[in-house]
Amino acid sequence: MSFFRDLPKIFKKREITFIESYKESDDAYTFLFEKEKDVTWIAGQHGLFRIMHTKIKNPLKPFSVASAPSENVIRLTMGIGKEPSEYKKAMLELKPGMKIYLSGPVGGFHLHDNSPAVLIAGGIGITPFRSILKQLESEGKLNGQPVHLLYLDSKKSYLYKDELDAMANHPSIQVTYLSSREDLHQEIDKVSAIHKNDGKYYVAGPQSMVKSISEYLQNKQISKRNIKKDAFFGY
Ligand SMILES: Cc1cc2nc3c(=O)[nH]c(=O)nc-3n(C[C@H](O)[C@H](O)[C@H](O)COP(=O)(O)OP(=O)(O)OC[C@H]3O[C@@H](n4cnc5c(N)ncnc54)[C@H](O)[C@@H]3O)c2cc1C
Repeated sequence: MSFFRDLPKIFKKREITFIESYKESDDAYTFLFEKEKDVTWIAGQHGLFRIMHTKIKNPLKPFSVASAPSENVIRLTMGIGKEPSEYKKAMLELKPGMKIYLSGPVGGFHLHDNSPAVLIAGGIGITPFRSILKQLESEGKLNGQPVHLLYLDSKKSYLYKDELDAMANHPSIQVTYLSSREDLHQEIDKVSAIHKNDGKYYVAGPQSMVKSISEYLQNKQISKRNIKKDAFFGY
């Protein structure tokens, strides 16, 4: 059970050092932190990140680690609009060398086996999938299990597009960019007709999107146990 495996990691709080941040799209920023040798995670997991340089009301929030454990950095990408929350303002204030606390990373959202994987991202929900695909790449496994990434973004911003396109050059990796829920449903119909319950379906994004896509999959006779969810509450 990942809960019991994760307990000691949740209680262990460590400081991580900020390197830099940059704008990833109109409403998303990426933040890079140094990765000490003993910090590790399974691609797809999330950490709990606590602001320490200033006092704010809710200093602790969960974020998926968008980098793979094989990369030498902790990468977060956050949706930040025109009116950022206190937390996100504090993130934008970080200067190189400043620190925040990290607990984890933890969680059961990661590839579970070598069966065909259907990754379904809603907007900012692409973050755990970047990590998962980068890890497959670094392990030389991009030619292994079939992986379909269905990436829905109504604003067509498509974070990490260049990297995803490069990975899609491998025959077993398919990336489909979508901008409407109807198109996403159509693609799910196609992919689920191919893989049925031999595949695993990973859904990440805003809570409402994860819930409705999970229900849609179940209506397509995909068993609950083959659907793994990463619901980003707060969107
Ligand atoms: C497992 C997991 C993984 C996640 N991974 C990611 C990830 O990779 N990337 C990501 O971005 N999120 C991720 N999230 C969601 C994340 O934890 C936050 O809930 C989310 O980013 C919203 O944070 P916020 O500070 O903007 O939200 P809130 O504080 O809830 O604010 C919501 C909105 O209210 C408005 N608002 C709030 N405070 C103010 C203020 N003082 N002034 C003006 N407007 C205000 C803003 O428009 C803000 O966007 C994840 C969540 C989970 C559970």
